[in-house]
Amino acid sequence: MDIPRIFNITESAHRIHDPFTPEKLATLGAALRLESGTRVLDLGSGSGEMLCTWARDYGVTGTGIDMSQLFTEQARLRAEELGVADQVEFIHGDATGYISDDKAGVAACLGATWIAGGVIGTIELLARSLRTGGIILIGEPYWRQLPPTEDVARGCLAGSISDFLTLPELLASFGHLGYDVVEMVLADQDSWDRYEAAK
Ligand code: SAH
Repeated sequence: MDIPRIFNITESAHRIHDPFTPEKLATLGAALRLESGTRVLDLGSGSGEMLCTWARDYGVTGTGIDMSQLFTEQARLRAEELGVADQVEFIHGDATGYISDDKAGVAACLGATWIAGGVIGTIELLARSLRTGGIILIGEPYWRQLPPTEDVARGCLAGSISDFLTLPELLASFGHLGYDVVEMVLADQDSWDRYEAAK
């Protein structure tokens, strides 16, 4: 079981497989006011940089599940390197339908919401692993400007305009699901470059 080989090649040297820099990832961890011992579940955990650095910096524990064999192996090596291998575990597997018995204080999916058919399905899935009062963490692209035509959307490597919302719409959509948005950290053009140009 693995993801298409092209991603393992183009992102083989990425530690963060999303448009966040290490600084932004740390800002996100601080914004969530993570307490030592908080359990974090990460679906589509990639090379584990979020779990490993948050384990080191904030004392969290957690589990990551990812379908890439290469990324999962890199995550385990990173945990060793940062001295947090006793706090985090990485499972190579399909996160579709994954529900944790051990409820999490933070249940996350960054840049992989297709595993449950989109943002709504992913929130529903993560909620089933969340302890009462916990935080759901979603990393999702949004349109900075609506593409004028479907052709332009495809030119942006989206399947269609409806694949993504604008930021105000995305934020409002969490409210419609009955959730309060408590924090937000945005990518910017420079951090997108670190993700895309590095490919
Ligand atoms: N959250 C990580 C990785 C985002 S990239 C980060 O931000 O760095 C998307 C990830 O989803 C890739 O690591 C890919 O291997 C993983 N993935 C894709 N389909 C998956 C599935 N069905 N189950 C688990 N992981 C999956």
